Amino acid sequence: MKRSSCARAAIILIACSALAAHAADYAGPLFDAHLHYNEEAWNGQAGPHPLPDVLARMQRNGVRAIVANSRPNDGTQALAASPLTRQAGVTVVPFVRLYRNRADYDNWFRDESIYTMVQTELARGTEAGPFKGIGEFHLYDSTNANGPVAKKLMALAEEKNLVVLAHVDDAAIDLLMANTPSRGQKMRLVWAHTGIGGAPVARVDQLFAKYPLLMGELSYRPGLTCDNGKLCPEWRELLLKYPARFMIGSDTWVNQRWQYYDELMKGYRAWLGELPPQAARRIGWDNAAGLYGVTIK
Ligand SMILES: [Zn+2]
Repeated sequence: MKRSSCARAAIILIACSALAAHAADYAGPLFDAHLHYNEEAWNGQAGPHPLPDVLARMQRNGVRAIVANSRPNDGTQALAASPLTRQAGVTVVPFVRLYRNRADYDNWFRDESIYTMVQTELARGTEAGPFKGIGEFHLYDSTNANGPVAKKLMALAEEKNLVVLAHVDDAAIDLLMANTPSRGQKMRLVWAHTGIGGAPVARVDQLFAKYPLLMGELSYRPGLTCDNGKLCPEWRELLLKYPARFMIGSDTWVNQRWQYYDELMKGYRAWLGELPPQAARRIGWDNAAGLYGVTIK
């Protein structure tokens, strides 16, 4: 081979291996398992992100189902009731939010009126069917997992087979689980962000091993992705160790998250595409769909 053709062959080889290294993005359905439709997004009717706007964002990103919760619960009720939601091909899994306003964030775990509100909402249900879970709730101090209302809500959730979406640290996972009749063995808890404080991978692994129904939602998870949005090696390993235990979510807690909804979902599709197709499909759709009994219509 002449020198010039050698060089050309080498360039082609490099180009080919670069192509092979860049896996195709995950193209299947997405289940947004952590979505808020708070009052500042739509303001009852108007607001910057009315129903047609948020539904269009879901639709163009292939989001076919959502866990909806909102402060107050009216946003969830609106998503559940609107014919526009069905027209967009989006299934709503409604959750009862524990917050009527921002003051409730720091007090729900000891406020009896929150317990009453949850029971009223559960009895009322939504036009998309009964509430399937409670949350998202926050515990900024993990010892508040032992607050009287937190204890009652965890027992209620397990008894009624409700899923709990909890934004807590790893210590609070143990405390919340201890407050259920099965001591966490039958508790369907989804750990929002799988520990936003960055609990080490080994600790996540330990908790997953300890609680068979514990699952992790991955928005804002520190250390999940490294350069260029690619999965960090230790997280790739953990996802492949527990492909049936993770799910993705937008966490539209402020309006800015709605503005970047496309980018968020594209980011998920990119790193899901690095995984074997079956694992990508499980994390992108199957795990949440299985947990909430959702099928694509
Ligand atoms: Zn959230």
